[in-house]
Amino acid sequence: MLTEVQAGPYTIRGISVGGVYTSLQVPELGAVLDVGVPIRSFAGTDRIFLSHAHPDHASGLGSLLGIRRLIGKGPPEVFLPAEIEAPVQEALAVLTRLHRTSMEVKTVPLRPGDVHPLGHGLHVRAFRTHHPVPSLGYQFLRRITKLRPEHQGTPPQEIARRRQAGEDLFDEVERLELAYATDTLSHVLETEPSLFDSRVLILECTFVGSHHSVQDAQDRAHLHLDELIARAERFRNEFLVLMHFSQSHGPEEVQATLRTRLPPALAERVRVFAPTSGRWFG
Ligand SMILES: [Zn+2]
Ligand SMILES: [Zn+2]
Repeated sequence: MLTEVQAGPYTIRGISVGGVYTSLQVPELGAVLDVGVPIRSFAGTDRIFLSHAHPDHASGLGSLLGIRRLIGKGPPEVFLPAEIEAPVQEALAVLTRLHRTSMEVKTVPLRPGDVHPLGHGLHVRAFRTHHPVPSLGYQFLRRITKLRPEHQGTPPQEIARRRQAGEDLFDEVERLELAYATDTLSHVLETEPSLFDSRVLILECTFVGSHHSVQDAQDRAHLHLDELIARAERFRNEFLVLMHFSQSHGPEEVQATLRTRLPPALAERVRVFAPTSGRWFG
């Protein structure tokens, strides 16, 4: 069964087990984040964002395209690190020959700092993550115009008149809505400090227990819960969604560890992306 958490206005659904498979859907953003496993109900979503090409994040892409074909959907947009655009296209060309059906996608290659419009004021900005292969995180943001503080309180007719006369009364501001950072060293929080200000932050937390030290996590280019606890005061997010837990801990153990170890002020804003009982999916 899929896991689902609510983080403010955003629903995050899917499956995530570190090194096994991760695929999430945020319906309010029309986005699928990684395709480590093909999930039937994600096939209708037209934008796919690949963090990197490790199998637990990308190997379900061909199967998801197969399901899309079944339901009559055309080529999706696949946002991905620029360095993997050509090999992903080559892999899909091989699958096209193998399956004798089209595996066409519209790739959108991105580099850290690139911003791409998604319509209705929504944009995505790619940022650097720290993993041994080409990888990106994604920040979804809204660009909105806001009346400059010095004009607040001015009657609306007056604003309209001055606007028509060509006066520039507005600033464009960015609202950081939801960020996705997986398969990365905690160093991403230093190189991309705006992550602390994203309304919702989906962040990997591969290792949570004492079986693995912070050094073990860093050696594998992943994050350890202790590194988040050490920065607990800095998270200003409304919601922090933790995912990509190692299967060396069962879901209930992960839930209990986070409940007992996270400082209360942070714990109340954390959503644990793991089943509340039973075993990991599969
Ligand atoms: Zn992974
Ligand atoms: Zn990886």
